[in-house]
Amino acid sequence: MIRAMSDVNVKAGIESILKRIDEALARRPPHIKAPKPQLVAVSKTKPVEMIIEAYEAGQRHFGENYVQELVEKAQHPEILKHCQDIKWHFIGHLQNNKINKVLKLPNLYMIQTVDNERLANGLNTAWEKFQGDNKQPLSVLIQINTSGEEAKNGVPPSEAPALYKHIKENLKHLQLEGVMTIGAFGFDYSTGPNPDFVSLINVHKQICEENNLDLESVQVSMGMSDDFEHAIEAGSTIVRVGSAIFGFRAKKNA
Ligand SMILES: *Cc1c(COP(=O)(O)O)cnc(C)c1O
Repeated sequence: MIRAMSDVNVKAGIESILKRIDEALARRPPHIKAPKPQLVAVSKTKPVEMIIEAYEAGQRHFGENYVQELVEKAQHPEILKHCQDIKWHFIGHLQNNKINKVLKLPNLYMIQTVDNERLANGLNTAWEKFQGDNKQPLSVLIQINTSGEEAKNGVPPSEAPALYKHIKENLKHLQLEGVMTIGAFGFDYSTGPNPDFVSLINVHKQICEENNLDLESVQVSMGMSDDFEHAIEAGSTIVRVGSAIFGFRAKKNA
C-alpha cells in the first residue's frame, strides 16, 4: 500500500465524517423526505496518494473543481491501477471549450455544475460521442446561485425550473439528477437556518411539484466541511467535504 506523505490520517478522516453524517441524519426532522446523504470527498489540491488512501478506506465518490487537475488525476496510472471503481464528480465551473477534456475521462460519474442551456446542450452533444458502449446518459446537477453573489456561478433560483425543463425535455443524453448550491461562506447558525439551504430546498420543492416528482427522487447537493451537518438536517442528499477529510488546503490561484 502507498503511504500518504502527510500527517493527515485520511482513513480516520473518512470514518469520522461518515459517523457525523449518520448522526446528522438521525437529527433530521422526520417530515423532511430525503434519502441518506452520499459523501463526495473533495480532493482538490491534494495528492494522488491521499485519494488512494481514501479509496482503500472504502470511499468511492470524489470531487474535483479544476479541469486540469481532474484531467491529471483521473488518468493517473496509480489511480487507474488502485481505484478502478472510483466515481469522479466535477464540481467546478465548466466552460464549453473544456467539455471534451472532462467528458472523455475514465470513471467520470457526474457534472454537478450545469448552470446554463448552452453548457447543457454542449454536454449533451459531447456525451453522445464519449459515452462508449454502455450508452448510459451522463449524470448532471443544476448549480443554483442561491446567495446571489456576483462572483458565484449558478443559475438564479427563479430561472432554475426552466433550465430543469429544458434539460428534461430536450437533452436525452443527460440524466438530470437534481440541484446543487455552494452558498455563502461563514454563515452564523446562531441567527437561524442558512438562507442558501432554505433557498435550494425551495427550488427543489418547486421543481418536484412542477414535474410531478417524488421529493426523494431528486438529489440535493449542499454542505461542505463547515456546514454539512446543518445541510443534512435541512435535507441535503449529497455533501461535498474536502478539508475536514484531507486537511487544510492552501489557497490556489485558479
Ligand atoms: C472545495 C469545494 C468543496 C469542499 O470544501 P471544504 O470546505 O474543503 O469541505 C465543496 N464544494 C465545492 C464546489 C468546492 O469547490
